[in-house]
Amino acid sequence: MLNERILLSHGAGGGASQRLLDELFFHILGNEYLLQKNDAVVLPSVQGRIALSTDSFVVQPLFFRGGNIGKLAVCGTVNDLAVQGATPLYLTLGLIIEEGFLMADLLKIVESIAETCAAAGVKIVAGDTKVVNKGQADGLYINTTGIGVVPEGRNISGSLAMPGDVVIINGTIGEHGMAIMSERSGISWETDLMSDCAPLNGLIERILTATEEVHVMRDPTRGGVATTLNEIAAQSGVGIRLNETDLPITDGVRGACEMLGFDPLYVANEGKVLVIVPQSQAEKVLSAMHDHPLGRQAVIIGEVIADHPGLVTLRTGFGGERILDMLEGELLPRIC
Ligand code: MG
Repeated sequence: MLNERILLSHGAGGGASQRLLDELFFHILGNEYLLQKNDAVVLPSVQGRIALSTDSFVVQPLFFRGGNIGKLAVCGTVNDLAVQGATPLYLTLGLIIEEGFLMADLLKIVESIAETCAAAGVKIVAGDTKVVNKGQADGLYINTTGIGVVPEGRNISGSLAMPGDVVIINGTIGEHGMAIMSERSGISWETDLMSDCAPLNGLIERILTATEEVHVMRDPTRGGVATTLNEIAAQSGVGIRLNETDLPITDGVRGACEMLGFDPLYVANEGKVLVIVPQSQAEKVLSAMHDHPLGRQAVIIGEVIADHPGLVTLRTGFGGERILDMLEGELLPRIC
């Protein structure tokens, strides 16, 4: 089967489709809900409010250092639920596959989806596979929709940042985007560039256990830290000031950014979370984050201020201050 390629008949709903479902998807991803095999899955009732998020993944290349499109498709949706204070529970999985796609690659991707779901504690409960003619899709596109549950009384929103809050990030920035760029440009001089792609719900649960006063959480994906903080500054009507000397950036990312002309503050992350809490909660939150593998390098990178509402600024190492605009257009197409 591994030498086989995807045929149009694999998406046609007949015998070939059924074999693909049985041998690949049900076999690897199966659980009591997915295996109901009805037109719609029926899920148990939950306590709390429902959080729902959807995202499509068109990353190119499909495989990169630190992950692949399957892992990314799970992490992306899990993280969007988690930063909203939701416990992610269920995902749907929709695939659009180009005719001729190698079965062995599809297997690797589905195995990676299963591993990432296990790590995040979520289940694929419904799915769909379509095959389009050769040349009508670029290998594989994935859509995931996720359902989570938010406890009553927990309110986290981009509009709740307040002067006096601090901005925390769980580690080094710009890694996903630069890993993808290095694959695309065939850069071989940077071997340590690896995507940070990871499900963040475990780390976020620690944060929410440490304090009930999280004002904002958001994952700085496309557009990077600078664009995400601009969204928050605008939504909350506050200023945000970052300190350049506090920004965690690896030498590899810094070097690749300098060579390719990118600013790490605008480069996508897939395993990072910005946490905005009152200064009084910072120590508790940092120590909770440091106890988790994905938060060991958590650090305060800036503060929320009353000055220049709607603007994000960077205090440079030389003591100057410059405005960090929102990213216009797309810096790196098909990064996720
Ligand atoms: Mg997000």
